[in-house]
Amino acid sequence: DYLFKLLLIGDSGVGKSCLLLRFADDSYIESYISTIGVDFWDTAGQERFRTITSSYYRGAHDQESFNNVKQWLNEIDRYASDNVNKLLVGNKCDLTANKVVSYETAKAFADEIGIPFMETSAKDSTNVEQAFMAMAASIKDR
Ligand code: GDP
Ligand code: MG
Repeated sequence: DYLFKLLLIGDSGVGKSCLLLRFADDSYIESYISTIGVDFWDTAGQERFRTITSSYYRGAHDQESFNNVKQWLNEIDRYASDNVNKLLVGNKCDLTANKVVSYETAKAFADEIGIPFMETSAKDSTNVEQAFMAMAASIKDR
């Protein structure tokens, strides 16, 4: 038997906990701030933590959280085994009016580093199940 861990990694406030809550419970709470054990990386390392808290209080910025994906990928390379399946997720796709990072921009970045990309919304459920299922399928197909 094998044990696989699924980590949701990214800046604070991007909606990791909400995505998990949507997938697990099919619910959405606007003020959901709890960390259900999957946000291990939220508190990993003082340096990262400081960056994260400051960005949390500014409110997770679309562009900034996208720019920080590169750093998160570096952290995965540093701390995890080579054997990691990755999926880049652009959450809050329901917020079309304030959208800063286009689908095309994020997709081009994901293509460049060779990982799949999906846009999701924990709020209106868009692609949430699909994203978790895509991860499950990629593990099954290893
Ligand atoms: P985390 O720090 O990455 O775990 O982020 P949270 O899951 O706590 O989400 C932070 C806040 O972003 C939530 O309280 C929601 O108000 C908001 N949020 C999360 N997901 C979505 C989404 O898909 N759409 C919108 N409009 N807001 C979201
Ligand atoms: Mg969280």
